[in-house]
Amino acid sequence: MAWDFETEPEFQKKLDWMDEFVREKVEPIDLAFPDPVAPYDRRNPTYKKIIEPLKAEVRAQDLWACHLGPDLGGRGFGQLKLALMNEILGRSAWAPNVFGCQAPDSGNAEILAHYGSESQKQRYLQPLLDGDIVSCFSMTEPQAGADPREFRCQARKEGNEWVIRGEKYYSSHADFADFLITMVITDPDVPVHQGASMFLVPGDAPGLEIVRHTGLGGEPLGHGHHPHLRYNDVRVPEENLLGGPGQAFAIAQTRLGGGRIHHAMRTIAMVRSALRMMCERALSRRTQGEQLARKQMVQEKIADSFIQIEQFRLLVLYAAWHIDKGHRSEARTYIAAVKVQMAEVLHDVVRRALHLHGALGCSNEMPLMRMWSGVPVMGIADGPTEVHKVTVAKQVLKQYEPYEGLWPNDFLPTRVEEARARFADLLEAEVGNL
Ligand SMILES: Cc1cc2nc3c(=O)[nH]c(=O)nc-3n(C[C@H](O)[C@H](O)[C@H](O)COP(=O)(O)OP(=O)(O)OC[C@H]3O[C@@H](n4cnc5c(N)ncnc54)[C@H](O)[C@@H]3O)c2cc1C
Repeated sequence: MAWDFETEPEFQKKLDWMDEFVREKVEPIDLAFPDPVAPYDRRNPTYKKIIEPLKAEVRAQDLWACHLGPDLGGRGFGQLKLALMNEILGRSAWAPNVFGCQAPDSGNAEILAHYGSESQKQRYLQPLLDGDIVSCFSMTEPQAGADPREFRCQARKEGNEWVIRGEKYYSSHADFADFLITMVITDPDVPVHQGASMFLVPGDAPGLEIVRHTGLGGEPLGHGHHPHLRYNDVRVPEENLLGGPGQAFAIAQTRLGGGRIHHAMRTIAMVRSALRMMCERALSRRTQGEQLARKQMVQEKIADSFIQIEQFRLLVLYAAWHIDKGHRSEARTYIAAVKVQMAEVLHDVVRRALHLHGALGCSNEMPLMRMWSGVPVMGIADGPTEVHKVTVAKQVLKQYEPYEGLWPNDFLPTRVEEARARFADLLEAEVGNL
């Protein structure tokens, strides 16, 4: 019997160590250094002082870069174990960097490992895995969003170089990344899934221009780390092509699948914190003569949140299990389903927690408004909800056939007639007995 919801005792010990380590040593860093990109700033000497000793502890526990296989310095735990780890790491913005599995570097490392040449791996992958450099994934365009069919950024071959021209938007961390993985059209005459390619572009490549430092809502205009980029005939040597020409689509799918589910795993941590805050508030606060927790509408908020979180968690773990088993088609369906549900659960649970905290919830003295600002991002980044719903629907529809004839397969007159014919003898006897 294969169904099991238990964690191996040895691995549970690792999770217990992580739980305490993150609570005691990493979460305080979030409070002292709240800038969202501080965990990525490899050039900052304070960063090194903070993070290096913690990284050493993680390595000593053999938990560094656990999203990777043993050939790349990880443990090859697989996605299911990674999900349980990310449920802890998601409590802190710093923790993924301390454990060497932060986005977007984790996804970029994954595609370099899959598609990179030996020299690309040496120059870009190894220092990325060691946590010595950071990277950017530059795909979205201002007019195109998630749809590569609308991409205009192109590269043309000149001698033994590729020359990239065009614009990209929301290239997160491009303002300080050591290198970018850039998806561009290399053959506009064929369908985009055959005509787009990926290039490794050094962060200081001549011609790479930051048009604007786009930030998230709430950040001052002109500040932020999701820049609008212009590639002004940026030249990269032939060997900076990642994979083969025309392979960008396949490469992007490898990357985005992992990225989406890792965000979902970390979201579980966030919504669990919101539920904890909600329950603590309900038990601590009195209104109109009784504890908030005794009011049925408050109980409903808690029950709905608990049920949604548990459903979501099981969906994430099931998606992770499909990935580990190599069930490609199922993994695709479940990753898309998880991506859709992640934004919903975060929205519902954080909203309830925030609402229950009243004015305090709306203030900057609780973490809830910050969580709330992540809600729209979860429904957009890595592709909007609608696109993933389309994927789920197409995958589900593949399992069914149209019915023949005018009436549906479940048309009761036909089904009852068939059933009656099957039991005709018994039905006749029964009528006779009346
Ligand atoms: C915080 C953050 C970080 C990001 N980081 C990166 C990064 O590092 N690199 C990168 O390349 N990109 C990045 N992005 C960009 C992200 O991938 C895109 O925002 C996303 O793909 C959606 O594109 P768009 O914003 O143009 O929205 P659109 O694609 O225009 O979608 C906007 C809306 O249009 C509607 N819509 C779209 N498609 C459909 C459909 N098929 N059916 C029905 N309605 C639809 C939906 O309402 C959707 O929400 C980031 C985005 C965010 C918010």
